[in-house]
Amino acid sequence: MHIVIIGNGISGITAARHIRKGSDFRITVISKESEYFFSRTALMYVYMGHMKFEHTKPYEDWFWKKNRIDLMHDEITQVDIQGKSLILHSGKMIAYDKLIIACGSSSRKSGLPGEDLKGVQGLYSKQDLESMEINTKNINHAVIAGGGLIGIEMVEMLTSRNIPVTFLVREKHYWESVLPYEESMMVSKHIMARKIDLKHNTRLKEILPDQQGRVKGIVTDQNETIACSFVGIAIGVAPAIDFLKGSGIACRRGVLVNKFLETNVPDVYAIGDCAEFTERLPYRKHIEQVWYTGRIMGETVAATIYNKATAYSPGIWFNSAKFFDLEYQTYGWVFPRLLKEELTFHWANAEANASLRINFQHDTHAINGVMTLGMRMRQDTFNQWIAEKKTLEYVLEHLPEANFDPEFYRQHEQSIINHFNNTFAGNALQLKSKRGPSRNTVNPTYSTGA
Ligand SMILES: Cc1cc2nc3c(=O)[nH]c(=O)nc-3n(C[C@H](O)[C@H](O)[C@H](O)COP(=O)(O)OP(=O)(O)OC[C@H]3O[C@@H](n4cnc5c(N)ncnc54)[C@H](O)[C@@H]3O)c2cc1C
Repeated sequence: MHIVIIGNGISGITAARHIRKGSDFRITVISKESEYFFSRTALMYVYMGHMKFEHTKPYEDWFWKKNRIDLMHDEITQVDIQGKSLILHSGKMIAYDKLIIACGSSSRKSGLPGEDLKGVQGLYSKQDLESMEINTKNINHAVIAGGGLIGIEMVEMLTSRNIPVTFLVREKHYWESVLPYEESMMVSKHIMARKIDLKHNTRLKEILPDQQGRVKGIVTDQNETIACSFVGIAIGVAPAIDFLKGSGIACRRGVLVNKFLETNVPDVYAIGDCAEFTERLPYRKHIEQVWYTGRIMGETVAATIYNKATAYSPGIWFNSAKFFDLEYQTYGWVFPRLLKEELTFHWANAEANASLRINFQHDTHAINGVMTLGMRMRQDTFNQWIAEKKTLEYVLEHLPEANFDPEFYRQHEQSIINHFNNTFAGNALQLKSKRGPSRNTVNPTYSTGA
């Protein structure tokens, strides 16, 4: 049995590793971006000089041969589902028994005038990082358009090299489609405190060329012209599935799959950023474009292939990011606006730049989700509490158990309890657990590990 995987990102590589663990099948991974798997989430740190590209590879180069996973650095240009084969850019043809499409995303295009000028780019791939290195050499000013996670990463990257940045965010405050108002405002303030020229309610309208075909400035939808020599387009990503056109594999925005990650074509599966569920799980999106869901899809499809049909079951939602040095984490569901059966408890400390929000059912007080800024908590503890439907009161009294850094955060816990007791008159909650877990424990929650 020959398993061929398109894409050596987290989803394709996880599938390969798990199929190898569970079987002796022949495995080939074909990918066009890089010879070896690397951590996409660490690209920014290469630009910022915190690590070399070599260090973003979670496995040594010998690992693949030792585990009999054949790697090919090539691009698939066509999939022939009748002949069960792939045509590669190099002219080679590869036959498969089972095909896993794990081709990921690419940066969304804005469609604006000037988008193809030199000095205008997105950030997704290793090649994008290399272009950014060249495009930002000796520049005086940059503009980043798009107030999501990649946008703020690009801002931080440029700032680390002392390049002044204007950051265009079309919303009223940063990432308001994901963060509740208070958190969104807190992050906006944090960005502005870094002396970033953050412009809310502002969209990019046009990118202006100089005589050499390089960007020389931009115009916003407020008709302001800003001189710059670099424009980062960070308006989201889209599944990179152009090569599947006409193949007979059903696609919408992504490759359509059922809960077993099967496409409409027998023996063809899709996982990771490029997969679009025909039926989404409650509250989750049709396309999930985060690191840990790619990993879970890789494990799931591997189990289906070497063992038995296994449905995608990603468990409790989790996400984490950093806005410069401000940690953000969310466990379970915290939406920008409350659900109709929900109430919220929110504590913030402006001086410490930290906040905690717990959304809970108004009748039972069972918690639905927790969002933190400026503090790192334990995903396993919150997963358990959410799954066991622990009440808000229980969680507050046992908060030290969820603390990742008890020394540092112990001061906040009493303040959080006091805030609860003051807000909800008649309550006298008390901290029950005094000790958090050891500081030396490795936090298993961080989303960026392999
Ligand atoms: C800058 C950046 C920062 C991020 N930070 C975070 C974060 O902090 N936390 C988080 O959870 N998520 C983060 N993400 C998202 C996360 O990286 C992605 O969800 C994840 O990498 C997707 O994995 P994947 O395996 O599905 O696809 P990818 O990692 O995109 O891998 C797919 C591979 O397939 C290759 N490929 C595509 N088409 C072909 C073809 N026709 N032939 C051959 N090869 C092909 C691609 O070149 C690519 O190498 C970040 C993304 C970016 C861009």
